[in-house]
Amino acid sequence: MVKDKNALFRAIPAVDRLLESDYLAEIIERYPRNLILKAIHRVLDEYRKRVDADAHFTDPSALNVQSVSDNVIEMVEKMARSSLRQVINATGVIVHTNLGRSILGKRVLSRFEPLAGGYCNLEYDLEQGRRGSRYSHVEGILKELTGAEAAMVVNNNAAAVFVTLETLAKGREVIVSRSELVEIGGSFRIPDVMKKSGARMIEVGTTNKTHLRDYEEVIGPDTALLLRVHRSNFQIVGFTEDVETSQLIDLGRKNGLPVIEDLGSGCLVDFSKYGLSKEPTVQEALTQGLDLITFSGDKLLGGPQAGIILGRQDLVDAIKKNQLTRALRIDKLTLLALEETLNIYRDEKVALSEIPTLKMITEPYKELKAKAGRLFRMIADVPGESFSVDLMDGHSKVGGGALPLLDLPTRLVCLTPQTLSAHQMDEWFKSFDPPIIVRIEENKVLLDVRTIQDFEVKTVAQAVRELGREVSG
Ligand SMILES: *Cc1c(COP(=O)(O)O)cnc(C)c1O
Repeated sequence: MVKDKNALFRAIPAVDRLLESDYLAEIIERYPRNLILKAIHRVLDEYRKRVDADAHFTDPSALNVQSVSDNVIEMVEKMARSSLRQVINATGVIVHTNLGRSILGKRVLSRFEPLAGGYCNLEYDLEQGRRGSRYSHVEGILKELTGAEAAMVVNNNAAAVFVTLETLAKGREVIVSRSELVEIGGSFRIPDVMKKSGARMIEVGTTNKTHLRDYEEVIGPDTALLLRVHRSNFQIVGFTEDVETSQLIDLGRKNGLPVIEDLGSGCLVDFSKYGLSKEPTVQEALTQGLDLITFSGDKLLGGPQAGIILGRQDLVDAIKKNQLTRALRIDKLTLLALEETLNIYRDEKVALSEIPTLKMITEPYKELKAKAGRLFRMIADVPGESFSVDLMDGHSKVGGGALPLLDLPTRLVCLTPQTLSAHQMDEWFKSFDPPIIVRIEENKVLLDVRTIQDFEVKTVAQAVRELGREVSG
């Protein structure tokens, strides 16, 4: 046995032999020599490990130059490929956190080339001819759209909440209802963010019921502010009781305390006008009299990742003076995308058609049905031995921890496995270039056209056709 192993080790081709072989000639021309050498070493290491560990690996013919070279080619291509890749989202989850949340529309994208490919007035005041503020580029439009007195932007909403608490409540108490101690995406938890900010959290009420007197009873000399957190990704049903925001605002006024809400998604459009469920808008939150609100740029707003802080001038000014903002500051690529996204909101109708997140959320079933039909016709004749193709009704989700209970009626292209399993099909779609992320339900592969962009439909059809050919041929 040991002797066999030694023979196998010796059978692994040497680096030079591989480099000289015809099999690698083409790839050696296309890629830097360094990368080829690294790939060869990695592949040879893998072979050595396998020979060492796998008792069933006894066939030296698997170690011929041709098959080792094939693995080297695959390795070079894998190493040379960018890690960040375009994927097609066929899941029907619109603000898909793992797939980059909101996608940007054409008008926003067109700003990248001139502004990032050349210099821009990021921190230069063109009128005064001197140093300016990066925040100034979006302050005006944010105030115009929302009616806020003052505005400021940071890296994301987690940073917005953090810097707000650090500025206004460090070493002091923040009162918050137990029913609002939300966790978003596993890494943002209100109690943890609060602790890191140096604020002391005073939880009041119970999970299902919080009364105004619960807040009243704990207000003391150390209280810095009253905090509300939007229950972005969950709801509490049954015997529940909540304090109205307006009541909390009155209580804050009476005690000279700012009332702040982390709105989470922060939408500027009232979705209930379009037959969807009501999500409080940014404008309403400000009209109610909240002193400060924070929300994300890339959830229901449909822009880039950012954290937006709106509200009272004195509070925003205090936050701007905090040294932490330097560490949490918004980058210029984000800023240009955010400014352009906000510009689009000047006309709500245009926003609904040009901001992809809004367009996908409000896309009528009739249009989804037509789109699914188009995809179906492109693949209906795929051989039916490995899977069959149908159309069916289903639901999409907003995602991103927003509107968790809202089901959006959609049309699905459904692939029912025959000889293949749904899991195998899922793997195959993920390995396609570009990878396609599908939904698996009850052992069927579902393609939700709501999140498949128009320009991607053909590619999805091609993937399905190739999968059909692969298994039948
Ligand atoms: C999403 C969310 C956050 C975190 O926002 P990011 O932009 O992801 O940092 C914070 N609070 C609430 C209520 C949220 O919904």
